Amino acid sequence: MSDSRHELVVVGGGISGLGLAHMAAKKGLKPLVIEANDRVGGCIHSHHFTAPEGEFWAELGAHTCFNSYGHLLAMLEDLNLLDDLLPKQKLSYQLLTAQGLGKITSQLSFVELLISLPKLFSLKKEQCTAEEFYGGIVGKKNFKQVLGPALDAVICQSAAAFPANSLFIKKPRRKEIMRSFTAEGGLEQFVRAIADQPGIEVRTRVAVTAIEKLTDGYQLQLDDGTQLVAEKLALAIAPDLAARLLQPVLPAVTELLQEIEMAEIESCSVLIEKQYLKLAPMAGIIAVDDDFYSAVARDPVPDNNYRAFTFHFRPGRLDHVGKLVRISEILGLNGPTEIESVANLDNRLPSLRMGHEKRIAALDALLVDQPLALIGNWFTGVSIEDSLCRTASEFDRLVV
Ligand SMILES: Cc1cc2nc3c(=O)[nH]c(=O)nc-3n(C[C@H](O)[C@H](O)[C@H](O)COP(=O)(O)OP(=O)(O)OC[C@H]3O[C@@H](n4cnc5c(N)ncnc54)[C@H](O)[C@@H]3O)c2cc1C
Repeated sequence: MSDSRHELVVVGGGISGLGLAHMAAKKGLKPLVIEANDRVGGCIHSHHFTAPEGEFWAELGAHTCFNSYGHLLAMLEDLNLLDDLLPKQKLSYQLLTAQGLGKITSQLSFVELLISLPKLFSLKKEQCTAEEFYGGIVGKKNFKQVLGPALDAVICQSAAAFPANSLFIKKPRRKEIMRSFTAEGGLEQFVRAIADQPGIEVRTRVAVTAIEKLTDGYQLQLDDGTQLVAEKLALAIAPDLAARLLQPVLPAVTELLQEIEMAEIESCSVLIEKQYLKLAPMAGIIAVDDDFYSAVARDPVPDNNYRAFTFHFRPGRLDHVGKLVRISEILGLNGPTEIESVANLDNRLPSLRMGHEKRIAALDALLVDQPLALIGNWFTGVSIEDSLCRTASEFDRLVV
């Protein structure tokens, strides 16, 4: 096979694309992964701060995996990495209201909860938005003041209009494995290990800019001026980006993909010496009606000298200085000068809406018999494992 011809090309080196490459390599194929960024991982991005007391990592994107992540765990098992899972200490989230930080339960009306709870037996999750379903169960006020902001914090955008059944999709737990985990050095260690295994070729800093259909596959144009031929192709990128690339190849698929919205998130991680913080260790902060959705603390993996918090801001609200001032206020610092170091990342996540299942069914019907897989975090749900569930089913269709 010449350099420019490949049996399987995967566009996008996030967990979805690397997962497909892993499954293909296990079957003896030699997948090529093309990643636009200078690093693999996409939304899995562990930042390494260099500080006077040594290196310290914090997550700028995904932060926690669970023992219900069966496809991820199977890959880590293949790579003999199960011993490298690092448990996360069980800590609570704090709720930030106009009164300051407090317990999540402090804002709950138990009377409203008791009155509303019986609706659990009549509401159908698959027919409701998150607001209709969870608001129905806990009551409208409880949803507005507590549960709604908690769901927003999980998916870093307003969760109200999300289909209720695309949040917290129940999956079997592997009870012999710790409930929630990360890795020493952060979750990016896992994606790096997948990308670095023999049998998978990864090219970073190069983006696919155009796709053309051939009789026996696809021709890809790359932004370094080169071209590739892929006998089989997997697009593991956001729906708006896939829509653009597929316009000349499958315009009907493009039309469906253009209906899927994306949410922008401005993530800002701060490293702080422990001595400056009076706050007790926590999992993070859930914000009610603020400039940010949530802040995720590194406290569940404690360090002797430092703590870090990654704030996920609503887009376009605050500039860089404004963010640091707000972060200092919330964390009780004497100003941004007590922040040792800062790292920023613009994240994006899909905004799923009612009717999404129908759209995906229509899309899948258009893909039948095409040597093309569409994978990512925009099918059933946005978690790492939701993404890998789609990867596994498309792998079965495309490769097996
Ligand atoms: C702030 C945040 C917190 C989260 N927390 C959690 C969590 O705790 N637990 C959890 O399970 N999930 C979490 N998630 C969700 C999860 O991280 C993502 O849904 C998942 O990692 C998405 O993986 P992906 O491979 O589908 O897409 P992405 O990670 O977006 O990867 C797509 C890749 O494609 C590349 N690309 C795009 N266009 C091109 C092109 N033309 N050519 C080549 N490459 C291209 C991009 O550079 C990117 O690397 C979080 C997400 C965010 C943003």
